[in-house]
Amino acid sequence: MAIAFARSVIGRATAALFAAAFGMGAMVAPASAYPPEDAGYHDYAEMMTAIHEIAESNPEIAQLFSIGRSFEGRELWAAKVSDHVGTDEDEPEVLFDGGMHGREHMSTEMAVALFRNLVDGYGRTERITDMVNRTETTIIFNLNPDGSEYDHGSDSILSWRKNRQPTPGSTEIGTDINRNFGYRWGTNPLNASPSAWTYRGPAAWSTPEASAFKRYVDGRVVAGEQQIRVHVTFHQHGRIVLYPYGYTKGAVPDADDHARLAAMAAEMGELSGYAHAQSSHDEIHVGNQMDWLYATYQIMTFTLEMGDAFAMPDEAIPTETARNMDAAYYAIEQAALLADANDDDEPILLPDTAMAIDPAPSQGRNAGLGVVGVITFGVVLATVLDSGVGRPPTS
Ligand code: CA
Ligand code: CA
Ligand code: CA
Ligand code: ZN
Repeated sequence: MAIAFARSVIGRATAALFAAAFGMGAMVAPASAYPPEDAGYHDYAEMMTAIHEIAESNPEIAQLFSIGRSFEGRELWAAKVSDHVGTDEDEPEVLFDGGMHGREHMSTEMAVALFRNLVDGYGRTERITDMVNRTETTIIFNLNPDGSEYDHGSDSILSWRKNRQPTPGSTEIGTDINRNFGYRWGTNPLNASPSAWTYRGPAAWSTPEASAFKRYVDGRVVAGEQQIRVHVTFHQHGRIVLYPYGYTKGAVPDADDHARLAAMAAEMGELSGYAHAQSSHDEIHVGNQMDWLYATYQIMTFTLEMGDAFAMPDEAIPTETARNMDAAYYAIEQAALLADANDDDEPILLPDTAMAIDPAPSQGRNAGLGVVGVITFGVVLATVLDSGVGRPPTS
């Protein structure tokens, strides 16, 4: 009886949250620490409530865990979604993350929405049931909870990017987690100033957030083989899908990998109505997450830059997350196909045929942002450097 009562309380609390989020329950004071007009976003406490509720709705396929703690001590929550979720099965693994930059709140909403769709869709649609059965998908909801809590914790959104770690020998606060990864770290002087939005930190892996991510990924090496095939990090903004490398304008040295990265980014972009490009198309980014993932483990890794602003209104959450859901599903399905191909020792796809690996042709959605748009964009921004001084950095 006690359990049933507790569940009904949780259910009602959650219903109230939803009602508040979508403006349907005027009686409920918004619980969010966001400014009232943006209460539809999940702050850290609300995100925890939401993901626990989702996980509890189907514990057979959903399991929460933490990959570590932020500088200020917040758990970096993650969920695994798979059949037999408590068992580490020999299934291709997929990794998503959101929230790495504090002000990019839609990216955490995307991670939560993806988790909800996978769990709710299991057993209801063949497509989702199949991807949950065939893969082990992990979603890290917010890689920078200190930065996002700080960003929305006052009366107005501060547009804060970095974490909240003090810099030794400086009064500046915060390191850009996405310049703190250990591949070629320290080679771009534009990331050296503690006051830069893209400050790399005093040493590679000096942020507990990047270190926790590294430990998790390193821990997915089983019997000498990295299990993660595909990774997608959600960011804002720019309506573009990016692939490695960021540190150089040159392609990754393996031509087949380059073709596959470009083809998958193109397909994800088409599914979202977004452009696609190599991460360095506008400027170089050194010490970023994708470069480390690819250089270390040859993971097919992508940055999905959602939307057209940092501060999108909460009314945009349903449409913006729905818009990118097919790209996320595609990433999961590709992991399964890549594993099948490797197991059979099939020839690696060439550029001409790479698009054929798409199991779900797009529905003709097109925002008019093809390759031409990307090139133009790149030329315009070619002189903007990675110091956070010109155009505000997104990835
Ligand atoms: Ca609003
Ligand atoms: Ca499984
Ligand atoms: Ca596994
Ligand atoms: Zn970002």
